[in-house]
Amino acid sequence: MSERASLGIDDLPIRDELRGKSPYGAPQLDVPVRLNTNENPYPLPEPLVERIAERVREAARGLNRYPDRDAVELREGLAAYLTRTTGHPVTREMVWAANGSNEVLQQLLQTFAGPGRLAIGFEPSYSMHGLIARGTGTGWISGPRRADFTVDTGAARAAIAEHRPHVVFVTSPNNPTGTAVDADTVTALYDAAQAARPSLVVVDEAYVEFSHRPSLLPLTEGRPNLVISRTMSKAFGAAGLRLGYLAAHPTVVDAVQLVRLPYHLSAVTQATALAALEHTDTLLGYVEQLKTERDRLVAELRATGYEVTDSDANFVQFGLFEDAHAVWRQILDRGVLVRDNGVPGWLRVTAGTPEENDAFLDAVRELKKEQS
Ligand code: PMP
Repeated sequence: MSERASLGIDDLPIRDELRGKSPYGAPQLDVPVRLNTNENPYPLPEPLVERIAERVREAARGLNRYPDRDAVELREGLAAYLTRTTGHPVTREMVWAANGSNEVLQQLLQTFAGPGRLAIGFEPSYSMHGLIARGTGTGWISGPRRADFTVDTGAARAAIAEHRPHVVFVTSPNNPTGTAVDADTVTALYDAAQAARPSLVVVDEAYVEFSHRPSLLPLTEGRPNLVISRTMSKAFGAAGLRLGYLAAHPTVVDAVQLVRLPYHLSAVTQATALAALEHTDTLLGYVEQLKTERDRLVAELRATGYEVTDSDANFVQFGLFEDAHAVWRQILDRGVLVRDNGVPGWLRVTAGTPEENDAFLDAVRELKKEQS
């Protein structure tokens, strides 16, 4: 046996809570149609690629220096985007950015949770919330959802009152179910969270640009412990860029400075994100196409006889299967990669290009025929 194979991670003096755990991540398989990680299927348009090259060339001339530690120009641009698309006035002081919204969420937990503190999410939901909690030494509470995957306000309030968490996650639209949360539910959970401690409420809006409903961002007005988390990975089609951001009361942004690493956002990242913001309208045009495709997937899956959860995201949860993993494999055998998130009976497919969606629909129609 090689030296490497004989030494397991658990043989190292790692933290007890990491023992026996596996890293997060969907399989990166080389198949013709990949609809498993909620990416945007459209490559960035060529004029934007050119603009990124220009901006990065400019930034390269200054790479001997550390980047703008406060990412002022970028936060200005993100604030303008939020103001324009939500109608709610957002200033640069209310915005913070990091390497993907995962890093934003990690910084929030480092600031507001950590050892001896608790965070809650209503599951099934984005499993990284629990994993980032674990990585920051935060205790994790798995809160309830109804059988139709909506948040039961009464049960959620009761869980908050019982556990008195320091951070409450609300994901809207939710991953992997696609379910959006209405404003009344968020305000009710916020009130319960303030009565219990007070605690920070984080609304993860990674997919909100695809929603039938407006952003919950205006709810931050008068609610200093409410944070909206966003990303350029989905609507901006820039998952490879790694740019996430939050909007909240300026004092929340000040608080996050206590844990952020200095110069965490490279000059190349800042330049690229600024270029993408210049092309917002084109990118939001792709979002409209994806929304149409998402609605088509919902309708066609239902017409084929599958159960489908209403979706406000760029993906669709479908079932019901006795053995979802076996069906995942059968779809993969037909050249289409979807996601088994471990929700019993259900799988998730990301809305791709019309051609990719057709390939997926052909595969699941074929499966239905074989079963009947
Ligand atoms: N929140 C949710 C709900 C997500 O599904 C994802 C990505 N799968 C993220 C946050 C993280 O996105 P990123 O780090 O790429 O911004």
